[in-house]
Amino acid sequence: MNKKEKLVIVGAGMASGRMLEHLFETDPERFDITLFGAEPRGNYDRIMLSPVLSGEKSLRSDRHA
Ligand SMILES: Cc1cc2nc3c(=O)[nH]c(=O)nc-3n(C[C@H](O)[C@H](O)[C@H](O)COP(=O)(O)OP(=O)(O)OC[C@H]3O[C@@H](n4cnc5c(N)ncnc54)[C@H](O)[C@@H]3O)c2cc1C
Repeated sequence: MNKKEKLVIVGAGMASGRMLEHLFETDPERFDITLFGAEPRGNYDRIMLSPVLSGEKSLRSDRHA
């Protein structure tokens, strides 16, 4: 039985989110992944923060996870 490599990620932000999407698309079985996030919610699109804070868009439409 092959043992998975361990991958520890600190920060559930946009860069780590995109990296995880790429890993799951290309090699989903390769890593045993642990993700540490400082925020009480999952990854979200920070680029949408400005329209959400200005009231142009709702918080719900800003969520990815
Ligand atoms: C209001 C606003 C509007 C923006 N608009 C745009 C835009 O229009 N276009 C654009 O290209 N960019 C925009 N940006 C910038 C864009 O959001 C960032 O470039 C991008 O989020 C950086 O991604 P990142 O993964 O490197 O960092 P972040 O997305 O900041 O993620 C880092 C994560 O790591 C966590 N973290 C940090 N230290 C620790 C720790 N020790 N332990 C656990 N977790 C930790 C943080 O809580 C955070 O969740 C905007 C940013 C803001 C704030």
